[in-house]
Amino acid sequence: MHNHTLRELADLLSQRKISATELAQGYLDRIGESDLNAYLHVDAELTLAQAANADQRIARNDTTLLTGIPIAHKDIFVTRDWRSTAGSKMLENYTSPFDATVVEQFRAAGMVTLGKLNCDEFAMGSSNENSFFGPVKNPWDKRAIPGGSSGGSAAAVAAGLAPAATATDTGGSIRQPASHCGVTGIKPTYGRVSRFGMIAFASSLDQGGPIARTADDCALLLNAMTGFDPRDSTSLPRDPEDFTRNLAEDLTGLRIGLPREYFGPGLASDVEQAIRAALKEYEKLGATLVDISLPKTELSIPVYYVIAPAEASSNLSRFDGVRYGFRASDYTDLSDMYRKTRAEGFGDEVKRRILVGAYVLSHGYYDAYYLQAQKIRRLIAQDFQDAFKQCDVIMGPVTPTVAWDLGDKADDPVANYLADIFTLSTSLAGLPGMSIPCGFGQGDKNGKRPVGLQLIGNYFEEAKLLNVAHRFQMVTDWHARRPAGV
Ligand code: GLN
Repeated sequence: MHNHTLRELADLLSQRKISATELAQGYLDRIGESDLNAYLHVDAELTLAQAANADQRIARNDTTLLTGIPIAHKDIFVTRDWRSTAGSKMLENYTSPFDATVVEQFRAAGMVTLGKLNCDEFAMGSSNENSFFGPVKNPWDKRAIPGGSSGGSAAAVAAGLAPAATATDTGGSIRQPASHCGVTGIKPTYGRVSRFGMIAFASSLDQGGPIARTADDCALLLNAMTGFDPRDSTSLPRDPEDFTRNLAEDLTGLRIGLPREYFGPGLASDVEQAIRAALKEYEKLGATLVDISLPKTELSIPVYYVIAPAEASSNLSRFDGVRYGFRASDYTDLSDMYRKTRAEGFGDEVKRRILVGAYVLSHGYYDAYYLQAQKIRRLIAQDFQDAFKQCDVIMGPVTPTVAWDLGDKADDPVANYLADIFTLSTSLAGLPGMSIPCGFGQGDKNGKRPVGLQLIGNYFEEAKLLNVAHRFQMVTDWHARRPAGV
């Protein structure tokens, strides 16, 4: 049951071979037995009520393809019924008065919510170690990080604790954990998925997307979660699309761009080997490889780590002990209340970002850092447009190494930032990017560590990315491998 794809589950449900209630209960049982720390809040009663509702819809034949299928949400999407913490002490006991648009969309499709998934605090991180509620373990090797910030989402899908999960990507947080946990994830073009009810980190970069087992499943989920939302000022007015429409299209003649900068000395040899082997598969499928350059790649790290903290410092000013969540219990006056609330409520990484953000936005430094970063961001976007004159899709690694050990980089923020080198530019440019499992890297008898292949497309070319990913998954079985015991 827990190893089926969404499409297989949809068949089982429509043929009445399993009920939504049985399915939900099966997953709840597995979640109860798991020690991965992937879930932050589960409420069996709420889940089973939604499942009963889905069963009634199925009985009436009032269904979509997703009706009765379970899904879990990254705890950055607010939910009326489950707590919404964003991985922070600041929101430890917070319940939202409304559902995020994405949550509403999946409910409307009849999906059944399994609960809320662990993540880095306010989605800031690459390893899921910044969660106030403790790190998530990688199901392939419990000594390893699952990747961040959507570590709970990727680990839950990899471990069969959910057949699908929502996630968000500001600078790589869908692609990185998908890569480290051997599952499939796609970050759509900025503006495709509503940010309404997605707790804000860096608003010009934040974008929701799905994590599932296959590209086909991701396409089905995107069908439900994309679309214009008048409640999000940067939501894009686009006609609805069927993202499954050309999944199986032939790849003959596809030009794959390989950015020189993604295959340099910083790339671990085990990751490179898996990527090169995947590229060989693509050649067999009729694609040709083209050498391209994204010359500003290196600058994406300083640029992102100026812009994202700047936006975060502004977005997080709302957590002041007055409006939401946590308030320090012991204070003398208003300023003291603000100070203690924020000192006690935020973790170290979040504080670091607020300080950096406030600094780069301050008088005298704004021009030198923030404005400069915005200009380079524009050039990074231009790099991609130049590259897409020579190729149809760009491929490379998602991360320079396989998942590292929990704790290894915990005291070194810069080492964490450097792991984002291959994902940040896509986010800064607002382009769609994807990670699909393509092999394993260094590991030992106690665990394997997955490698993800990154696919980057031009604006609105999610359907093409999904097609390119699906063809690979038709001829390989990396996406079908399971961690031991799952
Ligand atoms: N690792 C990046 C950061 O720490 C990206 C996080 C994300 O995409 N949410 O900001």
